[in-house]
Amino acid sequence: MQNTSLTKPGETGVASNQIQRANSLVEDVYEAIYAQLMALKIAPGSRITVDTLVKEFNVSQTPIREALGRLEGEGLVMKTHLIGYRAAPQITRRRFDELYELRLLLEPPGAARAAASMDAGKLKILQEAAGVMARREGKDERLRYSNFARQDAVFHDKILEFAGNELIRQTLGFQHTHFHIFRLMFHSRVTEEALDEHEAILAAFADRNAAAAEEAMRVHIEHSRDRLLPAFE
Ligand SMILES: [Zn+2]
Repeated sequence: MQNTSLTKPGETGVASNQIQRANSLVEDVYEAIYAQLMALKIAPGSRITVDTLVKEFNVSQTPIREALGRLEGEGLVMKTHLIGYRAAPQITRRRFDELYELRLLLEPPGAARAAASMDAGKLKILQEAAGVMARREGKDERLRYSNFARQDAVFHDKILEFAGNELIRQTLGFQHTHFHIFRLMFHSRVTEEALDEHEAILAAFADRNAAAAEEAMRVHIEHSRDRLLPAFE
């Protein structure tokens, strides 16, 4: 096992826009725990026991503690003195509203800027990101849903990268929006409709139409919000 590319506990890794191939044990364990959190196999707010994960993954405590440390740095798990780790609690309605207000402020203008600088190479990257989401691989629906969420995060992050304001990109990346919102609700509608909306965004990018890209992104985020709101009822 190679251990050279390990992310230290506390580092968020948001600056890295590549999905790194899981070469290291810590990376594998991180991915496995992340998937369980997303797929609600570890429920929001519930305890995470290192010993349980040791048995489940058949690895020593060290990589598990390192992976949990990284997740803690990202705000996806919490560590309490003497008690240990638990999954981040479910997002509150207030935080949800704040998150969507932030997204609506930043992402539609970001899409407009990305459209203005669009070229064939960037378009291909975005089309691929959107295309991966449409695949229906694997039997575990929740795991598929979790992969969809991660890919959606990549798609939106790439657009902000192409928009060219790294501070805006990092600000949104730091919120782990997709982690939090996709844990709210598990519903095929969330994925099906998002795919159509992404197509509209891609069409505007293909035309390098900034106004259309801004509008398509605004519509997508508003619809995403409306799809998830019933989770609070
Ligand atoms: Zn999306």
